[in-house]
Amino acid sequence: MLREGDEFVQCGQGHRHWGKFGAAGLLVHHDGAVLLQQRSAMSLGPETWGLFGGARDRDEAPVTTALRETAEESTLDVTAVRPHGVLREDHGGWYYDTVVGDLAERQDVGPRDWESKDARWVPADEVEDYDLFPPFAASWPRVREAMRRAVLIVDTANVMGSRNDGWWRDRYGAATRLRDQIDKLEGVPLPPFDVAFPELVMVVEGKAKEVGDAEHVRTVRAEHDGDDTIVETVALLTAPSVDVHVVTADRELKRRCAAEGAHTLGPRWLLNQL
Ligand SMILES: [Zn+2]
Repeated sequence: MLREGDEFVQCGQGHRHWGKFGAAGLLVHHDGAVLLQQRSAMSLGPETWGLFGGARDRDEAPVTTALRETAEESTLDVTAVRPHGVLREDHGGWYYDTVVGDLAERQDVGPRDWESKDARWVPADEVEDYDLFPPFAASWPRVREAMRRAVLIVDTANVMGSRNDGWWRDRYGAATRLRDQIDKLEGVPLPPFDVAFPELVMVVEGKAKEVGDAEHVRTVRAEHDGDDTIVETVALLTAPSVDVHVVTADRELKRRCAAEGAHTLGPRWLLNQL
C-alpha cells in the first residue's frame, strides 16, 4: 500500500532519504539481543542489516510508524512491544526516529514482504560484526546506550505544594487533579531519550493517601514518612537497565535519592510537561 509519505526527499545535510515526512525504525530488544532486519537485494543498502521501519505517514506518531512498518515487513507481533522512548536524529528538517522498546517474551521472527531478506536476534555485542546499513551503523552507539527504560517517581506533596491551585484547601482533590494530568502525559524528555515513555509512580501521603491508581499511573501510599517511602521505592525499582528519575524540590530528599542511583528533577520540569 502506497502512502503519502512514500517518496524520496533530500535532507538539509544533502542526503537522499525515503520518507517525505521523515522515517522511523524499531529497535526492539530482549535479554540483551536486538532484532535486526536484513534488507532485500532490491532495497537501498542491499542485503545490509538494520532496523525494521520506514516512511512516516503525514501526522503519524513515530511509535505508530515504527510498529506499523515492522508489522508489514516482519512476522513480529508488535502488540507485545513495550515502547520505552524515541531517539531523534535531525538532518536539518528531516527526522529519523528510532523507537526503542522491549519484549517480555522472546518471539521467533521472520521476514514478511519483499523489503526483507531475513530477520535475526543479534546479541548487542555482536551487532558490529554484521554488514550494517550505513545510517544504522552511525546511530548504533547512541541507540545501544538507550536499551533501557525509565521510571518517574513523583513526590506528590512537594509537586502539589509548588503550584498555586488551592491545594491547601483540598489536598485530596489537588492530588487527584495532578494524577489525572500525569496520566495524560504522552511522552517526556528524559535522557538518553528525546521522548521517553516512563513508568509513572506517585508517592502519596497524608490526606492525599486515598488517591488511587489511574490508567497509566501507579500510586504508592506512604504509611508514615513520605520521604522514606520515596527512597524505598527508588531502591526497589533501580536496576541495571532502568533509569529512575525522582521529581522533588526537597534538597535532602534529592541527596538521598541520588545516593540510591536516581536522577532528580524539579517540580517545574514536571509541571511544564503537563
Ligand atoms: Zn540526511
